[in-house]
Amino acid sequence: MFSNYYCPGNLSVLGAFDFSYAPTLIFYAYIPIILVSIFFGLLLIFRDKFSIQGKLIFLLSLFFSFWNLNVIAEWITVPVNLNHFFWQLTMLFEMPIPLLAIYLTLVFIYKKDISSKLKILLTIFFLPVPLLLATVYNIGVFDVQNCQPAVGWLTYYVYAIEIFSILWIVIAAYRKYQIESSPSEKKQILLMVSGISLFLLTFSLSNILGEWTQFYQINLIGPIGMVVFLALMTYLIVKFKTFNIKLIGTQALVWALIILIGSEFFFIQTNVNRILTAVTLVISAWMGLIIVRSVKKEIEAREIIEGMAKKLEGVNTELEGANAKLKVLDQQKSEFVSIASHQLRSPLTVIKGYLSMMIEGEPELADLKAGTITPKGVEVMNTMFQSTNRLAHIIEDFLNVSRIEQGKMKYEMSDFDIRQMAREVVGEFQAEVGERKLTLICTDKSPNASYMVYADAGKLRQVIGNIIDNSIKYTPQGGITVYLERLADSTRLSVKDTGIGISAENLKNLFQKFSRASNGGKVNVTGSGLGLFVAVEIMKAHKGKLWAESDGEGKGSTFVIELPIKKRN
Ligand code: ADP
Repeated sequence: MFSNYYCPGNLSVLGAFDFSYAPTLIFYAYIPIILVSIFFGLLLIFRDKFSIQGKLIFLLSLFFSFWNLNVIAEWITVPVNLNHFFWQLTMLFEMPIPLLAIYLTLVFIYKKDISSKLKILLTIFFLPVPLLLATVYNIGVFDVQNCQPAVGWLTYYVYAIEIFSILWIVIAAYRKYQIESSPSEKKQILLMVSGISLFLLTFSLSNILGEWTQFYQINLIGPIGMVVFLALMTYLIVKFKTFNIKLIGTQALVWALIILIGSEFFFIQTNVNRILTAVTLVISAWMGLIIVRSVKKEIEAREIIEGMAKKLEGVNTELEGANAKLKVLDQQKSEFVSIASHQLRSPLTVIKGYLSMMIEGEPELADLKAGTITPKGVEVMNTMFQSTNRLAHIIEDFLNVSRIEQGKMKYEMSDFDIRQMAREVVGEFQAEVGERKLTLICTDKSPNASYMVYADAGKLRQVIGNIIDNSIKYTPQGGITVYLERLADSTRLSVKDTGIGISAENLKNLFQKFSRASNGGKVNVTGSGLGLFVAVEIMKAHKGKLWAESDGEGKGSTFVIELPIKKRN
């Protein structure tokens, strides 16, 4: 089966292997570490089957162990062709280690799987290995006397990838470290990356140096890297709480005890002792089982309590948030009630005062019993009518605000011509404008365009009416122009006046509830500061906009509304 050429050593085991030729250290260092790394890898994969990290660590430990076993095989196989075969396999186990290390680091620091593009790139890095494994590019000449290979380009390629992977890992981690704000995350990145890059560094350097000097004992330095690797794994286990250290410790202790007692069977000479040891073995196994179970239970209980504590913490912060919101709402409510009562009181006081005068029979105004009224009385009646009107307006505004805030404002959408509507509203205001000696005109910037819009006609009329009404109220002299304009995907209506203007400071808050500019109160004492708030909310509900522009106090203002043009399918 094997060739007739042999490497140094005797065919002592299975006619192919010689355990005595290899340095003893290799068995002490490699075999326990292979076992431990496979053990940790298996623990991780069983505990958390669906996590990519668990799978990657498992794969890493698997390739790492295969690589170690292969090194042992290179040392102990005597037939040349078999020895050559193992040498040829090395890169198949070595190459996935740096690639998996890159993958694992990226998943660890970004907490998500890497992109498919990156996966393809890593696969491309790997491809030359299976393709060139059986060629002279892997192992060129094999020294049959000493069983030592002259490696080819593939080996140098793998070494280059190893160095490159360390750089990649360090740079990726450094970049994430810079932008990461949580100190605990930063610490985890630092630990993970120092562990994995130290492991890769010792692993790669010992291989490269061993190859370079042809002094393969250097490869035995590898165990230092493995120790780092194991320390990293332990860290990961603690960090992910993947397996409880206390449980591992207890289990390890119990197993060590059983093996220790069990091994006595090899030395015991008498039957009495054999029976005694068997009894001790059974008792310690049984006790060990009880201890392991109780530790497991304790851990489960602790996990439940921790879970509950976390939930409670969540509920607590939720409650705190809700409480803070309620406080704000409560404050807003009392503010609303106080402003509302103040707003309603002044027109009511005017009405009440005049009415009582007239009922008591103020000769200058009216004598209600006699059924007569003087011209001054008619004027007063007019003022009372205006106050009632204002009351009705304010109440309507309040109702609108409350509907908006409760999300109960209803919109009845239809298609209509906004130019037609603007002209009508402008017409309705002409009498008032005339009285105030102002001008109000409506012009059209795109005369041939269609001004059909899809909106709630009643509400839009209210918005247009409100801003024209405002510009009349806040314009002591001059005039108001309403512009209509059709843009690429919206219809725009602007109301430009020559009035008191608005300062930059006031422009910012104009559309908030109860907001009134400092100069507004002087010109129009009775405003509520709700009209624009309601108007802007109505426009938002139409996916439209309402904004104000002004060059400052005394420089006039422009209020603009914009409605998107309905897209027809
Ligand atoms: P009200 O007019 O009832 O006070 P609004 O919400 O309609 O409430 O307007 C809010 C404030 O915006 C007004 O108090 C006024 O200070 C300012 N404002 C509105 N329109 C104009 C305008 N055309 N020119 C100057 N200031 C205006």
